[in-house]
Amino acid sequence: MNFPKQSNRVHLNIDSYSTMMNFAKEHSHKEIIGVFFGKINENGDIEISEAYPFRVGRRTEVHLKDSDYEKVLPIIKDCSTRNLEWLGWFHSHPFKRGDHLYMSQTDVSYQYPAQIQNPYWTAIVCNPHQIKDSSTTRGMRAFRLSINSDDSKITKKVIEVPLKIE
Ligand SMILES: [Zn+2]
Repeated sequence: MNFPKQSNRVHLNIDSYSTMMNFAKEHSHKEIIGVFFGKINENGDIEISEAYPFRVGRRTEVHLKDSDYEKVLPIIKDCSTRNLEWLGWFHSHPFKRGDHLYMSQTDVSYQYPAQIQNPYWTAIVCNPHQIKDSSTTRGMRAFRLSINSDDSKITKKVIEVPLKIE
């Protein structure tokens, strides 16, 4: 199994950025969740090219439900015909004032088992109220859990992965 390096980045095409952020903007007071697909580059960067909005949650909580996993199966099949694989999930922290782009303990508990299956599995957190925050990538940040260099075990330590929109 290959593992991403600390220097690896997440590249997001403008279409998938717009799909995620427009969904978050439409529900700017509720958390939204969705999934994205793309490719792992030879250098270990990932390129996200398609995003799929899934669900609107409550104000401070959103989860994927069993019916969402059923919904994602035909998308996985369809994307595989374009050599795209399921590389992660996005959700919003739609709060005003301050920096809300981080991984909560609940987020980590979702990310952990998925990243054990695929070390490149990535979480994108977005906030429509932080689009102009220059410490973010137009209102988004990407995260993974750190991988222990000795034994390649996934830890529960959150690391930010540089995110580029292009
Ligand atoms: Zn969250």
